[in-house]
Amino acid sequence: MVDVWHPFTQLQGFAPLGTVVRARGAWLELADGRRVLDGIASWWVNVHGHCHPRITEAIATQAATFDQVILADFTHAPAATLAARLAALLPGDLDHVFFSDDGSTAVEVALKLAWQAQGLRGQGHRTRFVALEGGYHGDTLGAMRVGARDVFTAPFDGLLGPTTFLPWDDGAAAERFFEAEGHEVAVCIVEPVLQGAGGMRLGSPEALARLAAAARRAGVILVADEVATGFGRLGPLWACELAGVVPDLLCMSKGITGGALALGATGVRGELFDLFLGADKRRAFLHGHSYTGNPLACAAALASLDLFDEEDTLGRVRAIDATYAAWHDRLAALPGVRDVRHRGVLLAFDLEGGPGGYLDPVGVRVQRAALAQGLYVRPLGHVVYLLPPTCITPDELDWALGVLVDAVGDALRPRPAAS
Ligand SMILES: *Cc1c(COP(=O)(O)O)cnc(C)c1O
Repeated sequence: MVDVWHPFTQLQGFAPLGTVVRARGAWLELADGRRVLDGIASWWVNVHGHCHPRITEAIATQAATFDQVILADFTHAPAATLAARLAALLPGDLDHVFFSDDGSTAVEVALKLAWQAQGLRGQGHRTRFVALEGGYHGDTLGAMRVGARDVFTAPFDGLLGPTTFLPWDDGAAAERFFEAEGHEVAVCIVEPVLQGAGGMRLGSPEALARLAAAARRAGVILVADEVATGFGRLGPLWACELAGVVPDLLCMSKGITGGALALGATGVRGELFDLFLGADKRRAFLHGHSYTGNPLACAAALASLDLFDEEDTLGRVRAIDATYAAWHDRLAALPGVRDVRHRGVLLAFDLEGGPGGYLDPVGVRVQRAALAQGLYVRPLGHVVYLLPPTCITPDELDWALGVLVDAVGDALRPRPAAS
């Protein structure tokens, strides 16, 4: 019997892959003595490796100083310092930071802020939401509204408001749309350069730049959802930098604490922030979460930012990408493997021959075969990917790629029909 209701999991007949008892660096240690390399950085949250002593110590020190305190009437150094450091690192004039709990709430905050801001600037007639086909922005109702309508959203379709979806990675289509209909649009949300959960699809920075410019010309508030791409996953600190884009709002979470604690944050341009100022309390953004600006999470995030300098994290990302480049042709030559792609710490490819999509059973076969050799991955159906912590050594990365090659061969090998 399972008491924990595991996420994204059919629990009938379910048995966990193992019980984690310890985690260090790129490795998970299981109760039965197995060591497993965390090939997807525990759902893309882990940046520097598990239990990095700098982050662990920062959390312990903060926990002994003060724990959660209300951020409505008080301020505190962890939140204030983190906001200032993020503002200095964020592109352009994204100078204000609203803290929340996770990626979904960072997106909810962005959508609500954008909607209210349009009203405050006399543009309340703009009621349309725009997003990109195949996107993913989280599992709350607002975030699902702007995500692709798929197997995840199907039971809830009746709850989700309308959204206009533009084609992924098509700057010309975005320009045509915003020129014709942009005056009706309140907000447009995009995952810059990489659609993560939607299938690890890489897009061109040029298409993003054209979309962003067209949205701006049309008076649309642009939200960059960097929950997956932020904190150097694609090379630069922010994927928006690849396109030279400064969005109006930028959502962060996953990697923000280095992977130790949950924290969401939404970066806001000064121009939008100023709209909410006034004598009338109703002009304020009346939104918050109980654990907003959690001091332990903020302390972890500050230590993680220090590590980017101390350990040249972005240099490590470049080295991982260079290893991927060296493996590219070998992977692309494998039978059944299609569209090998990589950028930063991400390498992905598709497997042909099955039904495709998230429910394609080939992903589970790849997972089983890789785990038998000590590598943990979690394919998105027919999309297999690696996204390891940056502490992975060159030898470990070569080993992991070799295991993946074997696992794919194993998963695609013709098997006797079930009797
Ligand atoms: C994971 C993800 C989210 C949701 O974050 P949670 O912390 O799971 O709520 C939102 N947007 C993108 C791009 C993500 O990858």
